[in-house]
Formats: sequence, C-alpha cells, structure tokens
Amino acid sequence: MKIIVLGGGPAGVYLAISMKLKNPGHDITVYERNRDDDTFGWGVVFSDQTMENLRVNDPVSAETMISELIHWDDVAVHHKGEVIRSGGHGFIGIGRLRLLQILFERARQLGVIFHFETEFEVADIKGKFADADLIVAADGLNSKIRNHDLKAFDCDIDMRPNKFVWLGTHQRFDDAFTFIFEQTEHGWIWVHAYQFDEKTSTFIVECSTETYESFGFDKMDHEESAETCRRIFEKYLGGHDLMTKSAHIRGSAWINFPRVLCHQWVKDNVVLIGDAAHTAHFSIGSGTKLGFEDA
Ligand SMILES: Cc1cc2nc3c(=O)[nH]c(=O)nc-3n(C[C@H](O)[C@H](O)[C@H](O)COP(=O)(O)OP(=O)(O)OC[C@H]3O[C@@H](n4cnc5c(N)ncnc54)[C@H](O)[C@@H]3O)c2cc1C
Repeated sequence: MKIIVLGGGPAGVYLAISMKLKNPGHDITVYERNRDDDTFGWGVVFSDQTMENLRVNDPVSAETMISELIHWDDVAVHHKGEVIRSGGHGFIGIGRLRLLQILFERARQLGVIFHFETEFEVADIKGKFADADLIVAADGLNSKIRNHDLKAFDCDIDMRPNKFVWLGTHQRFDDAFTFIFEQTEHGWIWVHAYQFDEKTSTFIVECSTETYESFGFDKMDHEESAETCRRIFEKYLGGHDLMTKSAHIRGSAWINFPRVLCHQWVKDNVVLIGDAAHTAHFSIGSGTKLGFEDA
C-alpha cells in the first residue's frame, strides 16, 4: 500500500513503524512541518503498562526508550502544607524530543521516508496525495484535516475554561508524579511536575481564567509569565528557574485545553489518529499513550 502520514508526532511515526513491521513492502511517507531536531513541549509520562505494550509491538524502539527512561512509582499531592503520597502507580518519563528522535531513527531503519519542514494542506489530499491508498491524519489537536470536515468526523470540541502553560525546570521531581496546589491572593493555582531526563522536569502550571486575569498573565510576555510562576512556586523550586519553550506561540504562552472527541475516525481513505481524533487532559499523562495505541 502507498501510505501517506500527515504529521510526524508520536502517533504518526509509531503508525509508520507499526505498518512497516506488519509489511515491509508498504510505501510510507511522513510529512512534518518541524525539523527532526525540534518539537514543542518538554517531557511526557506514560505508565509501565504502556511500555510493556510497546515492547510487544516493537521491542527495538521500546528497548531504546527503556534504556533512557526516568522511572518512579509514587504520586505526591502538596496541599495546604501537607504532602499526601500514594504508591504503586509505576510511571516513566522521557523528553518529547528524545522520544521522537528514537522513533524517527527506528522508522528510517525500516525504510519510512520523511519530509521535514514541509507543511501540508487539505487540498493536498485530492492533489499531490491523490494516488495514496491510505492517508493517516496524525496532525495533532488543531488538525487541519479534521477541522476541514468536522461533520464527517462527527466531532465535538469543547474548549475548557482553565488556562495552562507548559514550562520546564532543572529542579528534580524524580521520586513522584507531583501535584502542587497553592492558594494565592488571586485564587488557587496548581502544578503538575515530573522528571523526564537526568537534568530536567516538566512543570505545567494551570489555573482558572479569573486567576489568570487577576495575576495579569494575559498581559505578560513568556519570560514574565515564567518568572511570575517561579515566584509563586519558589519554595518548591530549590533556587531553580522556570524555563519557557513557547516562543512559537504568539501573545500569551498560556492556552486553553480543547477536549476533542470524534465519533467517526474514517472518511473515504482518510483516517484520524492521536490528538486529531481525541484528546486526553495532560493531568492524566495519557495523550501520547493513546496515540501509540491508535497506531
Ligand atoms: C501540557 C501538556 C502536557 C502533556 N503531557 C503528556 C504526558 O505527560 N503524557 C502523555 O502521554 N501525553 C501528554 N500530553 C499529550 C501529548 O502531547 C499528545 O497527546 C501527543 O503529542 C499526541 O500525539 P500526536 O502525534 O497525535 O500529535 P502531536 O504530537 O501534536 O503531533 C502532530 C504533528 O503534526 C504536525 N503537523 C500538524 N499540522 C501540520 C501541517 N499542516 N503540516 C505539517 N505538519 C503538521 C505537528 O508539527 C506535529 O509534529 C501533553 C500535552 C500537553 C499540552
């Protein structure tokens, strides 16, 4: 089959790998707007069970991931000066860029062709991809392919009201998936933090729209936002800064989370997978895992 994959995120690249493993004769090309050494976000987590499923599907990429993963077992909730801990959760963390590089390398070994720094358009489906047997739209939560025909994909998008910003820090959060709730003069604001490589942790800050506006985050640039968050959570940061990686987002670095639910994933020879088809809130650390499972 001639397979075109639109979007070189975890779902699209893992689909390409899995199809090649099933039949090396498939002709598979992935189109991705970013470079192969560039992506958005910091690290991601998934469960031990997800890792086990990946190992069954493709032991080669799974073993490379396992050799680099940060592992922890606990969830720790910081609330009103107390830390509530529970064990037995079994999570692993990895940098999003590192994860993608492992997958790119594995896909290339299997003969998948990549076109990086290449933007695709909806018109390409009937244009330059007209001879494809299968087109996989793995183009993420703002999927152009899905948004062009929301009705055909029976898609419901609910833009959630909270604001969040995806930051990084060199403070270590390597013993637990850490949730920190702080009460401030502008209302509650909270963090989801976890280690994803030897030196770096993901640090996602979330709050209500009212709290976001009261702090004036809507008027701050990315650096000011990160510095304000650093001051709010200073006592948890051990003297480390919060780092921003969202220069590509114009205006505020804070965004709303869209809950995407498509009841129909297939239209003609086009199939949606990953965030294009559905999203899972980042607090449950499952979006990447679901993308892999779709693939
Ligand atoms: C703050 C935050 C934290 C998260 N934490 C976790 C976590 O801990 N664990 C977890 O499992 N998940 C997490 N997620 C979710 C996870 O990031 C997504 O679910 C996952 O990336 C989905 O993979 P995907 O391949 O479907 O889409 P994406 O990763 O979004 O990939 C889509 C790709 O398509 C490309 N693309 C889109 N349109 C075009 C175009 N027109 N032309 C060319 N290329 C295009 C994009 O550049 C992108 O590379 C988090 C998400 C957020 C926002």
